[in-house]
Amino acid sequence: MRLVPPTQDNPYAAPQAELLHSPEVRGRVWRDGKLLRLEKGAQLPQRCVRCNAPAEVHIDRKLCWHSPWWALLIFAGVLTYAIVALIVRKRADVRIRPCDEHARARRRTLLGLGALALFGVVACIWAPVGLRGTGVLLGAVLPLVAFFVGQRRSSVLQPVRIDKEEAVLKGASEEYLASLERRAA
Ligand SMILES: [Zn+2]
Repeated sequence: MRLVPPTQDNPYAAPQAELLHSPEVRGRVWRDGKLLRLEKGAQLPQRCVRCNAPAEVHIDRKLCWHSPWWALLIFAGVLTYAIVALIVRKRADVRIRPCDEHARARRRTLLGLGALALFGVVACIWAPVGLRGTGVLLGAVLPLVAFFVGQRRSSVLQPVRIDKEEAVLKGASEEYLASLERRAA
C-alpha cells in the first residue's frame, strides 16, 4: 500500500492511502472538480462528507434523480409529471457517513422541519374565523416545503446525475474531496 503523506498546504489532511485503501472503501470513489462521483454499490470512506472528520455512524439513503427536462411535464399537470418522474427516475443506494456533530445538526434540521409542518397543520385546523384562508394556505404550503427541504437535508449529499454505472453528487466539503483521487483508475 502506498502511503501518501499529508500535503504541505494542509498538514492536518488525512493520509490519502488510509482513505482510499481502508477496508471500508469498496468500489471506485473519486472527485470531479467540486463533485463526488462513485460507482454504483461503492462505499464512501469512513469520513464525514461535510468536514472530513472520522465518522462512526452511517445513514443509508436511496438517492433518486431524473433529467431536469422531465420537469417540463409539469405544464401537462402535476400528477402527470409526478407519475412520469416516478417511472424515469434513476436510483442509487449511498451510505452517507456524517461525524457526530453533523449527524446532530442533521437531526436538529429535520426536527425543525417537522415542527414547521406540524405548525402548518395546526394553523389549518385551528385558525380563527377571520384567518381561515391564511390557515389553509399555511396548512397546504408548510408541510410541502418541509417535505422537499427535508428530502434534501436528510441525504446530506444531493444527486447531480445518476445513471446505470455511477452517481454524481454535490455537497461534499473541499477537505473531503481533497482526500480522494481526481479520477477513476
Ligand atoms: Zn462533520
